[in-house]
Amino acid sequence: MDKQIQQLIQIMKQSKNTVVVTGAGISTEAGIPDFRGEKGIYRQIGEDRVMRVINIDFFRRHTKEFYDFYRKYFTFPEVEPSKAHYMLAELESKGVISAIVTQNIDNLHQLAGSKNVIPVHGNAAQFVCTRRSCRKIYDHTIMNEYPEGIPRCTECEGVLKPDVVLFGEQIQNFAPARESILQANLVIVIGSSLTVYPLAGFVREFCTFTQDLVIINKGPTQMDHAALLKIDTDTTGDVLEQVNKSF
Ligand code: NAD
Repeated sequence: MDKQIQQLIQIMKQSKNTVVVTGAGISTEAGIPDFRGEKGIYRQIGEDRVMRVINIDFFRRHTKEFYDFYRKYFTFPEVEPSKAHYMLAELESKGVISAIVTQNIDNLHQLAGSKNVIPVHGNAAQFVCTRRSCRKIYDHTIMNEYPEGIPRCTECEGVLKPDVVLFGEQIQNFAPARESILQANLVIVIGSSLTVYPLAGFVREFCTFTQDLVIINKGPTQMDHAALLKIDTDTTGDVLEQVNKSF
């Protein structure tokens, strides 16, 4: 793997605009399981059931059942960012990477100190009032006041919704995420199987113009065939630490 890391460093040194795309796999070292991995929720209870409940229509029609499920399966443990998150923040401060486009909802890039983070699936650390005229934002600790039932807005009694993109909803930051990826010289994908659209589609679109794609992921991804370099590892933090030392 050392040879591959040296190759990655060389590729990065030649790039003037490197954008990193991250998925659930960058946060497993921090203690948050991914969905598709061995301990993931898709293996535990099935992808179909998750997609049926974590869905905007289900949220609207069966709000209480949605929240029973959300409390049980979607309450992330309080964890610190992993080494990989901190290394990416340092690489940004050194001007080596320009942006992180992330599918993650765990807020760990922001906690690690990354500044230019473009989240496309929202932020599980927040809840938002669904009343159009209100839209007040709450910290996730609001849920402590609602060990059961439906959390409500203290201003207008509106129903609160986790500030995450549910199945059936449009992603957040569509245009900035796409532009950021398409304008890059180099895209480095970390911890994503590249099966979740539309973000995977942006990476696919990037590859129609250039081959400067690097993938760091445990196991296969949908774009391995197009990558200039693929590093198959579950110790992303160690890889990025070596990269960071060389800048
Ligand atoms: P995904 O399709 O992006 O797959 C995650 C990939 O990471 C898998 O290929 C897995 O083999 C790989 N991986 C796991 N541990 C790794 C490690 N230590 N190092 C390198 N690679 C590793 O993501 P998913 O799990 O199918 O989740 C789908 C969507 O659900 C995500 O896009 C996200 O929106 C949401 N999600 C978010 C979080 C989070 O915020 N931490 C966690 C789970 C799911």
